[in-house]
Amino acid sequence: MDLGLTGKRAIVCAASKGLGRACAFALAREGVDLVITARTAGPLEATAAEIRAESGVDVKAVPGDIATEQGRADALAACPEPDILINNAGGPPQGDFRDWDREDWIAAVDANMIAPILMIRAIVDGMIGRRFGRIVNITSGSVRSPIPTLGLSNGARAGLTGFIAGLSRETVRHGVTINNLLPGPFDTDRLRDTFAAAARKAGTDPETEAERRRQTNPAGRFGQPPEFGALCAFLCSVHAGYITGQNVLLDGGAYRGTM
Ligand code: NAP
Repeated sequence: MDLGLTGKRAIVCAASKGLGRACAFALAREGVDLVITARTAGPLEATAAEIRAESGVDVKAVPGDIATEQGRADALAACPEPDILINNAGGPPQGDFRDWDREDWIAAVDANMIAPILMIRAIVDGMIGRRFGRIVNITSGSVRSPIPTLGLSNGARAGLTGFIAGLSRETVRHGVTINNLLPGPFDTDRLRDTFAAAARKAGTDPETEAERRRQTNPAGRFGQPPEFGALCAFLCSVHAGYITGQNVLLDGGAYRGTM
């Protein structure tokens, strides 16, 4: 299927690794020119070089923290009029809410709620004026089914989800869709870190914890980042203009609801 994206421009936030990287690769394969961001310049430049070599599109690597004013300004300066915006940032740490103070909550809300909203604010009216825009926010399966140890994530992402539910109905008649992609367990550094922590706690090893977790998933495996990137690219395509305000779960069936 031709997704109709050749020559479009995208900002993909937090894209040197994992799910953001997979979205960047999938868009580049469709001929989309990219600005990609991450805090650490080395891996970001390496990812940009790999994407350029594979797809031949224009890729600008813009190092910076997307949770900061400067990080957002730099990304937007490199691509002031994107057709596509993929919002992403690292997830907050696990823990017990009794241990978190105001600064912990502010950091989580900054990265996982306010940063995507401010990125959208900066570009959405341009998209509306050009009558085409696709915005995808990478959130989490924890929005649908909260994870007790991820209270910071459950809370901050719920705020973003509520905001998007309203805005996405205002923009769609102008050709601008906004959707959220909710990953379950995907095979990335972030997921592997949780097994290392679980193994330390249980006195086992990370692979034992990983296998235990795989077997609790109906698919018997973790998601692979390219599967995530492919759906992201479809939601950005010209064929997806009637899909907006949705929270699309990719979790191998882990969420056991009928709807
Ligand atoms: P990952 O493999 O750890 O990759 C995170 C990427 O984001 C890296 O490129 C990282 O680079 C960048 N990044 C992190 N914080 C940033 C910031 N403030 N500004 C700019 N770039 C930033 O993580 P992932 O698994 O792809 O997860 C992506 C998102 O999905 C996270 O919010 C995570 O909580 C959520 N999620 C993931 C899973 C899963 O199973 N993988 C499940 C549910 C939800 P630098 O460190 O150099 O900045």
